[in-house]
Order: sequence, then structure tokens, then C-alpha cells
Amino acid sequence: MKKAVYYGIRDVRVEEVAEPEAGSGEIKVKIRYCGICGSDLHEYLHGPFPESPFGHEVCGEVVAVGQDVKGFAVGDHVATFVRDGYAEYLVAPQDRALKLPEDLPWERAAVLEPLAGAIYALERGNVKPTDTIFIAGAGPVGLLILLAVKVLGARTVYMTDLSKKRREMAERLGATATFDPAAVKMPPTIRELTGGRGIDVAVEAVGIEATLKDCLASTRHGGTVIVQGIFTDRALIHMLGFVTREITMIGANSANPVRSLEWMLTKGIRPEAIVTSTVSLDRIVEGGFEMLANHKDEEIKILVEP
Ligand SMILES: [Zn+2]
Repeated sequence: MKKAVYYGIRDVRVEEVAEPEAGSGEIKVKIRYCGICGSDLHEYLHGPFPESPFGHEVCGEVVAVGQDVKGFAVGDHVATFVRDGYAEYLVAPQDRALKLPEDLPWERAAVLEPLAGAIYALERGNVKPTDTIFIAGAGPVGLLILLAVKVLGARTVYMTDLSKKRREMAERLGATATFDPAAVKMPPTIRELTGGRGIDVAVEAVGIEATLKDCLASTRHGGTVIVQGIFTDRALIHMLGFVTREITMIGANSANPVRSLEWMLTKGIRPEAIVTSTVSLDRIVEGGFEMLANHKDEEIKILVEP
């Protein structure tokens, strides 16, 4: 079968490899889509990620089940939460897979895992429907946070992004107002918009110092900053403001797939709205990673189709 193998920075090659076989307690999945995650792009551009989750946003159909597998059968639609999804097939332990309804569109299933990350982050930050929200970054992470807080019932969601197209997408998906952080200073803007109070919850969804600072400085006394962006460099932050305003800062990098599916089925959330392209596995480098690296204006979430 074909598989995209990671060799190093800007060196991913599509190769012919042996098909994996399902061992005891494992299922074998014919992959329908694998979404390109920000962490994969980070790994492609900057080097290996801790416990590399390269190619983990997978949905597909079960084609074989190993011994002692319960609750999965050949033909089931599933999402899996293991790496090596840039391939035609993968195997996953049964407890790293979630069975999906057959009528769930594949494009939606493909975004189940990143949405699960957004939901997890909001749960971890104990975000309430009455909270005012500021999201720094309208990439895949920020936009999924936006969709999730809207479903949660948030009325006021401000967002920033350098890209006009991404800001427009955020507004289409329900952001109250969006700003270009190169043109507008966010902390005073947020203070003005909130009657001097500051925002209840800020979400850092980029992974750079400037957006982390915007989040910390825009948050009210006793508010929360959720950090979900993938940082390459260290960040120098103003600790005095953090301490005196008694801010809670939380890192979030896990996912709640069960809740993600539940929200798709009961709350009408449509995370596939962030998918901008689908590319064949053969073109994963030029049509996937390089597109995301060089055309942030056009591309947000790309799905790879084996
Ligand atoms: Zn991901």
C-alpha cells in the first residue's frame, strides 16, 4: 500500500510499504480521509513533535478485526486516534477507535478529532455559555473553538487574524467581530468593547508570543487563558499582569471524541465548514504541507484522500 513516511524537516515521501495486519484487540481500517493537523505541519516545517502524532485525524471503514475485538465489525465506519494515517490502511487498538453512524458524512467525520480537541479545551477551561470570548487566531484551531463556543451558547466572540480571508471565514461562522492584530492593538480594544472589564476567556490558537500576550493582556481579573497553539519558540510574558490580575492559564492538547460525535449528532455542529481542500495522498507534500505553509490565506484545513 501507499504511505507518506516522515523522514525529517520538509522531507516526507510517499512510499510503497506492506499493509499492516490487525493483531489481537486491533481493527484494520481502510482510510477514507486523514486531515492535516497543525501539529503535523509543525513537524513538517520544524522537526519531530513529542510523541509524534503524525497523521492522526483519520476516518474510514473497518476491513478486518483481530482476535478479542468487541463492538466493531467489518464494514463499520470509524474514526481512529492513532498516528500513521497518511496511508491507505492503518491498524488501531479497539480502544483508540470510535464507531460512527453510517449516515455521518465522511467530511464531517474527518474533522471529528480536531473538533474533539476544541471541545476538550473548552471543558478544561470550564467555559460557560455566559462567558465573553476572545480567540487569537482564525486557523483550524481557532475556528473550531469558535464553532464550539457558539454551540455552547456564547453570544460574544471576538477574533483576530492577520489574514483577511480567515477573518472573513470567522465572521461567516459567527464571530461577533474580527480584527487585524497588525492594525489594531487588541488589549485596549477588548477593554473598550467590554466596558473596561476585559474578556472572560481568551484562547491562544496560533502559538506565538504576540498572540499569547494579546490573550493575557485582554483577560479580566480572575479570567482564563486557554493555550492551544503549537509553539515553536519560547515566549517572554509579562508576569506581573498575570499575577496581579489572578489569571488562570491552561494548556490544552488532548481531545474528547465521544463528546465531539455527540455534538455533531445532537447539536448540529458542522465542523467540515473549515475544510478548504481535499488532496490525494500522492500530492500530500505539494498540495498539502506546502500549501498550508505558503498559502495560509487560501487554505485552512486540508484532507488527504488515499
Ligand atoms: Zn489534530
